[in-house]
Amino acid sequence: MTLVIRNSAELQDKVAAWKRSGMLVGVVPTMGALHDGHLSLVKAARAQSDRVIVTIFVNPMQFNNTDDLSKYPRDEARDLALLDEAGVDVLFAPDVAEVYPDGFSTTVSVSGVSAPMEGEHRPGHFDGVATVVAKLFGMTQAGRAFFGEKDWQQLQVVRRMVRDLNLPVTVIGCPTIREADGLAMSSRNVRLSHEDRSMAPLLHQVLQELAASLRAGADVGVALASARAELAAKGFGTVEYLDLRAGDSLAPLAQLEDNARLLVALWLGNVRLIDNIPV
Ligand code: AMP
Repeated sequence: MTLVIRNSAELQDKVAAWKRSGMLVGVVPTMGALHDGHLSLVKAARAQSDRVIVTIFVNPMQFNNTDDLSKYPRDEARDLALLDEAGVDVLFAPDVAEVYPDGFSTTVSVSGVSAPMEGEHRPGHFDGVATVVAKLFGMTQAGRAFFGEKDWQQLQVVRRMVRDLNLPVTVIGCPTIREADGLAMSSRNVRLSHEDRSMAPLLHQVLQELAASLRAGADVGVALASARAELAAKGFGTVEYLDLRAGDSLAPLAQLEDNARLLVALWLGNVRLIDNIPV
């Protein structure tokens, strides 16, 4: 049975007992509304740790849009049933006051990799992410932490923070899980209208075609511009960014290099989609 813990003191006792018996603790931080993408992280955590904690916390500090925060899907009972079935030991689901008690005054801010793309379009987002992830690492005392490549930039921000602050945790990135039609799974996909949902997989198709044309030697600027035009023609809304960047530093690339990645954020109806693929 998955044990639900809401209080960090109780969590710390539990983890301390595990560690006394030599167990390696893995954590999977999430915001709930779980899908197979999250469950793939749980599976990796189970394979690479002795005990697994999944955290569910819809972190107000990382939402730059109050509408997005209030509409974020939440269903803890369903999530708990999935975690139980997946063999998770502890669901840590603190409330906002447990994570940010009165007087909370610290912000973790990672510069560099946080700045472009999501950083430009969601000001403050990565400060919220880095701060809450540092908190969750402190509260769970986990030795391994599992993050999805779906949020590629976030993964680089967390890696940078862990390196810079010598946090005693190994960060493990896990591949993006997609629907059968190619759409990257996301908790926000349930907010897509029926029509938008059927169109959404075109994003992954356009990315794949773009990657293929870059591999075939197309000019980077020209190929990116024509992919943007194609997305507009297919009926997608504003493209916030569609970039070719170095996978680790996230530096923009004018030419294809090893480890290059395409990253995109755009609007479809009132839902913001992000995706990324290696080239
Ligand atoms: P979220 O609940 O959206 O904050 O995501 C929690 C974790 O699950 C993050 O590390 C995400 O990158 C990861 N994740 C979300 N969607 C997917 C997906 N489709 N495939 C793999 N990992 C994912």
